[in-house]
Amino acid sequence: MVNLSANYCLKCGAPLETRNIDGTDRRACPSCDYVFWGDYSIGVGAIVVKDGKILLVKRAHNPGKGYWTNPGGYIEQWESIEETIIREVEEESGIKAKVQSIVAIRDLPNRVHNLYVAFAMDYISGNPRPDGLESDDAGFYSLEEIESMNVAGFTKWLIQIAFHRETEGLLKDNDPLVTLKDHVLFRIN
Ligand SMILES: [Zn+2]
Repeated sequence: MVNLSANYCLKCGAPLETRNIDGTDRRACPSCDYVFWGDYSIGVGAIVVKDGKILLVKRAHNPGKGYWTNPGGYIEQWESIEETIIREVEEESGIKAKVQSIVAIRDLPNRVHNLYVAFAMDYISGNPRPDGLESDDAGFYSLEEIESMNVAGFTKWLIQIAFHRETEGLLKDNDPLVTLKDHVLFRIN
């Protein structure tokens, strides 16, 4: 299903036309080079485990108000996903953590196609505290404690990965075989 929902050019404001590009109908601008390729969003999430307990925050707003989730958020245009997850974890929970590996990806083709990258992170410092905006509670919780908490379904899936994974996942390649300007590479070892 092709997304044809855009009406005006984001670059110059001209009304878009439907144009067949490489066999697919797209909304494209007749006045400039703009093509509407679709609506996409990229989220990142963190599994931070400390002393056998996992970092969870309680959602203050919908969607998911009242549910406990792992911390996370959406990427910014010029921010690497690694920078995003470090920033989001600190903002939402007050915890400083560093990226260990990428452990899961969730794909949700939808009206806005969402891709979500889940990181395992190492605790560095800080005591959990909610930001009072997106989260109204935060803490490290054991599997036993989590059993009686209202945990979001997807977070349950990530918790299971956090405690039962057998491999490290994708690790950042700090010394890649080729140098790709501005790229950040993660790979299996
Ligand atoms: Zn245009």
